[in-house]
Amino acid sequence: MNLAKRVQDLPPYLFAAISKKIAQKKAEGVDVISFAIGDPDLPTPPHILDSLVQAARDPANQGYPDSDGLPEYRKAVADWYKRRFGVAFDPDKEVLPLIGSKEGLGHIPLCFIDPGDVALVPDPGYPVYPVSVQLAGGTVHALPLTQEQDFLPDFDAVPADVANKAKLLFLNYPSNPTSAIADVAFFERAVAFAKQHDIVVVHDMAYSEIAYDEYVPPSFMEATGARDVGIEVHSLSKSYNMTGWRIGMAVGNADLIDALARVKSNLDSGIPNAIQRMAITALEGPQESIQENNAVYQRRRDTLVDAVRSAGLEVIPPKASLYLWCRLPDGMGSIDFAAKLLDDTGVVVTPGVGYGKHGEGYVRLSLTVPDDRLQEGIRRLKAWRAT
Ligand SMILES: *Cc1c(COP(=O)(O)O)cnc(C)c1O
Repeated sequence: MNLAKRVQDLPPYLFAAISKKIAQKKAEGVDVISFAIGDPDLPTPPHILDSLVQAARDPANQGYPDSDGLPEYRKAVADWYKRRFGVAFDPDKEVLPLIGSKEGLGHIPLCFIDPGDVALVPDPGYPVYPVSVQLAGGTVHALPLTQEQDFLPDFDAVPADVANKAKLLFLNYPSNPTSAIADVAFFERAVAFAKQHDIVVVHDMAYSEIAYDEYVPPSFMEATGARDVGIEVHSLSKSYNMTGWRIGMAVGNADLIDALARVKSNLDSGIPNAIQRMAITALEGPQESIQENNAVYQRRRDTLVDAVRSAGLEVIPPKASLYLWCRLPDGMGSIDFAAKLLDDTGVVVTPGVGYGKHGEGYVRLSLTVPDDRLQEGIRRLKAWRAT
């Protein structure tokens, strides 16, 4: 059997490898506590589920959905952006429903990258960015994110020939895995850089609603000129505990949205209408669940920060997102560290190097662990030392 080179060249998906390792330990009888995966454990709010059930019984929702979604969902997205960020979009030209943001991110390079073209990708970053560039035949140029620079890319450090060849730039704030945040002034520097080199900017805003200590994350689209150069991808997965329901959106520049709609309409048949109805309820209904969830995550953050510090790691308590990005004692490799921690304690963390070479020296812990398991994980971490 012949596998295409693009498939042969694919790295295994980070979380697939971790899930396998967890299954193996469980089979050995180990009581595993996983801090590895960012998938909200808190429930989808009941009023949102009710609207799904109701929509599922409506025969109007049985057939193929339109690949550009229901007009009512596009309008709900535009209205939400207006309320939340004060930014207005034309729901028919500047909004595109996605089957979760991972789907949109995966297809975006097909729109802007020809074989041999360069894309600028944050490192460490969500593995979908480099892999989707690779699948489109492009070349990845890593933008190192370092603690010294608050995990923001230094555009001045991109060599001029690379910047001139680059077609696409991915950004993600609040960030996975670093939890770093960016302000509108940073986004405006990104817009200026993109205009100077004619680069499309794609901002992934998956964690904009998950924030602590009264911090309110901005949208890339609040930056002056953002609509000239970019699009933003967001989803309901993290905000409303809806990862399994698969729905998100892209907003921004009409020509870029149109390109993505052209690719998608040739590949997929959209999001089930009942799920879009459910998403309309999520965006337009009561929003209290977001604050309630964030209060739970914030409490978990504070107890877990304490535990990882006592285990010998350094961590900056995050202002947003679902992760602790923990610095290992000098010289320790993240894969070896994670393996030793699992063998010694049954606690699973994600090795930072899985997010790119500049993630080496760190591990990521997720806050999406139910409270009783979290407490047990904390107990084990406190009884253990990295060195
Ligand atoms: C969780 C996550 C998403 C959301 O993915 P969906 O496909 O919308 O569920 C997107 N980007 C990043 C960086 C994430 O961590």
